[in-house]
Amino acid sequence: MLRWNGYGEESITYPLSESARVYFSQILGSAKHPADIQRESLNIPPPHSFSNSHPLLQYEDETRLRHALGQSFPDLAAKRFGKITRFPDAVAFPESNQDISDLLIWARAVGAQVIPFGGGTSVVGGVNPAKLETDDRPVLTISLARLNDLRNLDETSHLATFGAGTLGPYVEAQLRAYGFTLGHYPQSFEHSSLGGWIAARSSGQQSLGYGRIESLFAGGTIETPSGRITLPALPASAAGPDLRHLILGSEGRLGIISEATVRVSPLPETESFYGVMFPDWSIGIDATRQAVQSGVQLSMMRLSNPTETETFLHMPAHQNQVEMLRTLLKWRDFNSEKCLMLFGITGSRRMAKSARRIMAELTRQHQGLWLTELIGSQWAKTRFRSAYLRDTLWEHGYAIDTLETAVSWNMVHEASHVILQALTEAVSPVLPMVHLSHFYRDGASLYFTFLFRVGATLEETMDCWCALKEAGSNAVLSVGGTITHQHGVGVDHLPYLASEKGELGIQILKNVQKFLDPSGMMNPGKLI
Ligand SMILES: Cc1cc2nc3c(=O)[nH]c(=O)nc-3n(C[C@H](O)[C@H](O)[C@H](O)COP(=O)(O)OP(=O)(O)OC[C@H]3O[C@@H](n4cnc5c(N)ncnc54)[C@H](O)[C@@H]3O)c2cc1C
Repeated sequence: MLRWNGYGEESITYPLSESARVYFSQILGSAKHPADIQRESLNIPPPHSFSNSHPLLQYEDETRLRHALGQSFPDLAAKRFGKITRFPDAVAFPESNQDISDLLIWARAVGAQVIPFGGGTSVVGGVNPAKLETDDRPVLTISLARLNDLRNLDETSHLATFGAGTLGPYVEAQLRAYGFTLGHYPQSFEHSSLGGWIAARSSGQQSLGYGRIESLFAGGTIETPSGRITLPALPASAAGPDLRHLILGSEGRLGIISEATVRVSPLPETESFYGVMFPDWSIGIDATRQAVQSGVQLSMMRLSNPTETETFLHMPAHQNQVEMLRTLLKWRDFNSEKCLMLFGITGSRRMAKSARRIMAELTRQHQGLWLTELIGSQWAKTRFRSAYLRDTLWEHGYAIDTLETAVSWNMVHEASHVILQALTEAVSPVLPMVHLSHFYRDGASLYFTFLFRVGATLEETMDCWCALKEAGSNAVLSVGGTITHQHGVGVDHLPYLASEKGELGIQILKNVQKFLDPSGMMNPGKLI
């Protein structure tokens, strides 16, 4: 059973070690867990009734509650304080592309707004009904959960077609049965869907090896209020602008992706993850840049700044091994500026051997220390579990959220400094940190995590969050970064979009949206 007021399965938790608890309380002060509202005391108003009904609609409170919000920090706070402002009036569960098309025709006829819902892991307010004050049309959420099958696998061309609602584990399980993988692993992998990855332009933890979703998405079918768009899966084309790029990142504004064809890879012969410590942030950045630009075949890389490295070292429950590591690092003259790099090598044994050799040489050239394989394998083991930490921290009275951008290499150092500074000054006490985690020949993504104390009320908590989000986002724009590298625009990043796209760019998007959705019924208030 999924948590109604948090992330993931109720049966799974990520306990906070004693060492981490002490570390956070030293920096943020001791905190109190605010009383969560219980499910039974939650007031769910009756649904607005539609002028006529449709057989695929469900109206139960439980279903409406579970589709009312996504997984952004404001969503979590609203659930925990029991202040959910709007619920969908009905949720539909189509079973075919035709069902979706019929539902859109029905929704238009009854004047409903429509929200496509994949896994509901949006962290930018992407699946939330528009505020009643701005749009009082009844809300129909369309869940893609039943479109979860592998529809075709072309083993010669390495192309697989899935229903768009297929969640990460089912994408992989169905491909693995034939010896293939998609290799797309966002941290939310277990609960997010293929259609959601495309619609939110997601990036998986192993994007360095497998590519972002835009390079994996080869084509598909999109049901729009103006009709069906079919994008053929072609290896390449010079036939004008690529319409796939209108669908990628469209966040449910243009229509509903009902099926998608993706580029898959044969399962790798071998995969391992490693850890290296570098003396400081500048040297670490230089090492990651050289690794990427040298073309060494890595499937993932992540470089934590000194604060994130220290936080990482406080997380394990058993600190004996960490103590041994600290002794070794001291002996090798690593001080509090040290930065942890994790990287993965995925592929043939021969390629892996060569990549390890190149990385060992790069480590040596940058005065790094190659750590025990335990660090890398531990990361791999907990890569999807760490998503549960947010609920654990909340239960200890601490709030945690993230902010992400991408800049070119010449700006990475400055951007990290400017954005961390802005977060530090926005709220006190706060614990901001950063890592680089997606890499390109010309730049990298910066992923900021910040912790602060949960307030006694929703308003107090949100005041802190808003101050941090605004300061961080303005700092992102001030260094010329994108307002989002992987989470999408939704509601939270909307105020910052025009400065990235320009007024003409926004007009182009508005006109496309108006053409495909003349009544503006698709996911209003998001993206555009
Ligand atoms: C703990 C956690 C970790 C995360 N880690 C990552 C990460 O590593 N990388 C990353 O990129 N993101 C990450 N995210 C963000 C989120 O998982 C991604 O944005 C993901 O792509 C959303 O997929 P979903 O299926 O949950 O989509 P949803 O949340 O259901 O929807 C996202 C948006 O897409 C629209 N949409 C969904 N399905 C369709 C469809 N079939 N057709 C049209 N529109 C649709 C929705 O209306 C909404 O606007 C994380 C989120 C959480 C909570």
